[in-house]
Amino acid sequence: MPNRRLSLAVLTLTACGGCDVQILRAFTLHEELQKMYDIVYWSFVLEKTELPSKVDVTIVNGAVKTEKDLALLKKVRNITKKLFVVGTCGGFGGISGQADYWPVNATLKAVYGGELKEAPKLLPRVYAPADIVDVDYIATNCPPKIDTIVAILKAIYEGKELKSKPTTVCSQCPRKIPEIKLDTYKPKRLDLVHQANPEDCLLVQGYLCLGLVTYSGCGALCPSFGLPCFGCGGPSWLVAVRRDFDILPTLVRRLAVLGGADTAEDEDKLMSKLVEAYKIRRLYVFTIGSSLVRGKPRAHAVKAIVGTRKDPRLAEALISERKSVLGEPKRG
Ligand code: SF4
Ligand code: SF4
Ligand code: SF4
Repeated sequence: MPNRRLSLAVLTLTACGGCDVQILRAFTLHEELQKMYDIVYWSFVLEKTELPSKVDVTIVNGAVKTEKDLALLKKVRNITKKLFVVGTCGGFGGISGQADYWPVNATLKAVYGGELKEAPKLLPRVYAPADIVDVDYIATNCPPKIDTIVAILKAIYEGKELKSKPTTVCSQCPRKIPEIKLDTYKPKRLDLVHQANPEDCLLVQGYLCLGLVTYSGCGALCPSFGLPCFGCGGPSWLVAVRRDFDILPTLVRRLAVLGGADTAEDEDKLMSKLVEAYKIRRLYVFTIGSSLVRGKPRAHAVKAIVGTRKDPRLAEALISERKSVLGEPKRG
């Protein structure tokens, strides 16, 4: 254990501020962290702040969407000893990855009515920081759990190793898994999930829950309160480490096994039902920005992007949705 406080930088890339709030709460709720770390860089809380030439630990949050994000991330990697990313944006692109469904120009047009002369230069796609630089830890979830942030900061300070557990959200879920009849299995609309039986597995009841293919750590928060898992924990261990395991086929295979099916034909039928009901995009809400997920052989995430970009109605829908919420764009 060091006999001094370690210097700590917090780098916020393209982000919503939720991760910053969780880091701040970690430091205010766990005052012992203040004795371990000296915060030297954090645009969210320090009025004037410049990156130092060397730092012991850096926490990165947000996704890499602008050229400035990319340059800052590379710089920080060069000056820091230990780097960990927080939030699903940091680990797998997160919600920010949704921007990849539309070309950059379509997004700018939808939000601002045209190109912005003074806007930050955008990269052609979103990247997770963990895709670009080596990271020591990833604390996923959107927003990340305070306990996880604290555990990682303490482990780094004390020079200990933290091991992750290769389990899924289902392993922490209190719901029972009854028998599945695949012949009559019918996906249901997610806005009707309040009608679900509160005791049984939501996926078995027909509501798309990604618990089977999502990394654990949240205590199965959503299914415990009646909502399906949307996958904010990032891909399960199996999907993350095995190149040939993708989110959609893994979910289908596991559901088919639960229903007693063992032929590829049964799996194909089930996959068609899920894709027709929910569209592929729904399966990759938090992971579409991840090179790890997009790099799978025959990646369904890539198919979802290509399919969406080819459909001009979706860009128009984005524009009209923006107008209905915010009115006509004022700049451009
Ligand atoms: S992970 Fe979630 S809370 Fe953190 S920056 Fe991304 S969207 Fe915001
Ligand atoms: S699929 Fe969802 S509801 Fe079913 S056990 Fe897993 S986390 Fe719970
Ligand atoms: S249940 Fe799924 S969506 Fe909900 S907090 Fe956990 S990982 Fe995130």
